[in-house]
Amino acid sequence: MSNTMNLTRAQFDEVMVPNYAPAAVIPVRGEGSHVWDQQGREYIDFAGGIAVNCLGHCHPALVNALMTQGQKLWHLSNVMTNEPALALATRLVDGTFADRVYFANSGAEANEAALKLARRYALDKFGADKTEIIAFNQGFHGRTFFTVSVGGQAAYSDGFGPKPQGITHLPYNDVAALEAAVSDKTCAIMLEPLQGEGGILPASAEFLQAVRRLADKHNALVIFDEVQTGVGRTGHLYAYMGTGIVPDILTSAKALGGGFPIAAMLTRSEIAEHLKVGTHGSTYGGNPLACAVGNAVLDVVNTPQVLDGVKRKEQLFREGLAHINAKYNVFAEVRGKGLLLGAVLNEQYQGRSRDFLMAAIDEGLMALVAGANVVRFAPSLVIPDQDITEGLQRFEKAVARVVAG
Ligand SMILES: *Cc1c(COP(=O)(O)O)cnc(C)c1O
Repeated sequence: MSNTMNLTRAQFDEVMVPNYAPAAVIPVRGEGSHVWDQQGREYIDFAGGIAVNCLGHCHPALVNALMTQGQKLWHLSNVMTNEPALALATRLVDGTFADRVYFANSGAEANEAALKLARRYALDKFGADKTEIIAFNQGFHGRTFFTVSVGGQAAYSDGFGPKPQGITHLPYNDVAALEAAVSDKTCAIMLEPLQGEGGILPASAEFLQAVRRLADKHNALVIFDEVQTGVGRTGHLYAYMGTGIVPDILTSAKALGGGFPIAAMLTRSEIAEHLKVGTHGSTYGGNPLACAVGNAVLDVVNTPQVLDGVKRKEQLFREGLAHINAKYNVFAEVRGKGLLLGAVLNEQYQGRSRDFLMAAIDEGLMALVAGANVVRFAPSLVIPDQDITEGLQRFEKAVARVVAG
């Protein structure tokens, strides 16, 4: 079909809403950590569909789960439950602090559910004054109007008229600001344990301790947005497992489906019970196809081999990036955890992350940015070591080109 229709990037500008500006090439096939475009040109994938393709492209276990379920049962609605959803919820409950799961289709929807639940819980339990949501500058929680308003980038929430109320934004990692702001009116503190879109910025241990302590003191809930950090990305099944604190509500999406849209909100039963029958819902949430894939993802990712492999592969990335930096002096630091890493550009290259990204595409490497000053890497959690080596060689050539001007 694509041959006879002769589809080109130029058509994007004719038929699509212009909210994206995609690259010039159109990928048509992927396998593991390799992607091929319409012209048959090959790329190494360090982007992973923005931290989604946690097992690379067309992983046999995921293809098999999709094909098998695809021949059995696609969709029912939430009028009836289904076996893949029950199996996936059981895996998530067994593997985490949570004892209840709500399924959605995207990170924003899982966060929307988390925020609505936090508001409901506070209203039911403590009354109408407890509505304040504390969130952080540069935080990202999705693009629905509630989640974009809780997110910490006004550029994403301005220009759409009146916003949801009762949201306070504070500097991330600032314990004093948090101490000053939390009160008995606070219903939830929402944050990413490691800010992704905001620049691959980890929360300090001290800050997370303060979040937990102040939330407990004021009967507020802690919501961890693990849409980007979850499902093995940091070398733990969920990043909170490496922080020493446990949230009350956690959201997961992106890697949970390995490329198939699915999301989940996890919480404890005494909180969950406030979303009574009829209070919230989603047509597709928990559908059998998505959950069958989610089960296959967790079967592969939630194993010592894969999770330990993430920590080892992180070292390969850090060594390779240090080697490149020793030669070209472009990064101030490499930060992040596991296979969610950010190479922060130094003074001389401020604002130029996109130049590095574009040069990388020219060299046959797909990478990401996280703001104007950070080149982000979020490859498959099972990317073969030789693909890391080869990809970093291509990245070195891209860096050399940017440095040469
Ligand atoms: C990507 C992302 C979201 C939004 O997920 P969608 O599936 O695009 O709605 C929310 N929070 C974080 C931390 C993310 O990285």
